[in-house]
Amino acid sequence: MNRREFLAGALAMPLGLSGRAAAQAPIFTGDMHFHSFFAESRYHARPLAQSLAAGNTTLAAWSLVGDLLWFDVKTYKQKSEPKAGEALGWFQRELGRIKEHIAQQNLKIVRTPADVDLALRGQTHIVLTVEGANFIDNNAAQRVKLAHDAGLRSIQLVHYTRNAIGDIQTEPSQLPGLTPLGKQVVRECNRLGILIDLAHSTEPAIADALSISQAPMIWSHGSVTRQPSSSGPVWRRRQLSLESAKAIASKGGVVGLWSLATDVGKTIEGYGDRMLELAEWLGDEHVAFGTDLNGLGPFGVVSGYGDLNRIVQHWQRKGVAEARIRKLAIENYARVLKAALRVPRT
Ligand SMILES: [Zn+2]
Repeated sequence: MNRREFLAGALAMPLGLSGRAAAQAPIFTGDMHFHSFFAESRYHARPLAQSLAAGNTTLAAWSLVGDLLWFDVKTYKQKSEPKAGEALGWFQRELGRIKEHIAQQNLKIVRTPADVDLALRGQTHIVLTVEGANFIDNNAAQRVKLAHDAGLRSIQLVHYTRNAIGDIQTEPSQLPGLTPLGKQVVRECNRLGILIDLAHSTEPAIADALSISQAPMIWSHGSVTRQPSSSGPVWRRRQLSLESAKAIASKGGVVGLWSLATDVGKTIEGYGDRMLELAEWLGDEHVAFGTDLNGLGPFGVVSGYGDLNRIVQHWQRKGVAEARIRKLAIENYARVLKAALRVPRT
């Protein structure tokens, strides 16, 4: 067989047919949480397509920081209140910039479960999401629909500023859980097919969301601890209790491990090992990457998507079963996203 015939044969072969072909298929990776475009940051994942390709990363959630203008990025303290309409204006402007870059990069945006399947087969897709749904103001029905129409398929309810949805993890609680508006946001997300992201939410708010949501949810980024703390450094307050992580998992959800060096270790291998430990705690079906790339800047152990490949290789060297690697690397995120995107027929 000459080279041309060989190539033609390879191209004609349906995906995933022979065991040997499957074993040789690349291991794609996914990321439930990354940023880019922070005004003065030097840690952008740009140009995005090239950055993602370095990690075989085919499903990545680009998170617009919904409350960026209203907190101090050094202390993570709220510094002002958005005036009426300001948070929506910021959301729309920033989303415009994000979509422009995605289009320039010839990347696709996830809108349907079929798009997620394409990502699993190697066609890179971006999930549009927002960190802190302040743009909703007091209008759940209209604004969640607006976000869905704009292509968002994931919404993180809260971040570092107070909004009308619920309390934040890093400040003292003022509410018993989600507000009535917050509960309505959960229902609207379920109805339209938007994945709910509980990161930065308090434990009572998580419990409320779990009792209402018809779809599994994620905690996109952070870490899990047996000893949660409501005081101490911000990263300690950002940790999720093992109890709540298990509750999210028990409803089919997925917890993403961020790459904050102080928390997960100073090496890529250490981060990979922490992922395996989390999988032992929650089950192999309930853990994913949530790098927070660019959000953590110089404090993140993951400095580019090529590092996700290094983690996959580290797992392979350790003899982790391929099926387990694929779940952690991308399949868990894909599964929970597809489940949330499927609009209930009832
Ligand atoms: Zn965050």
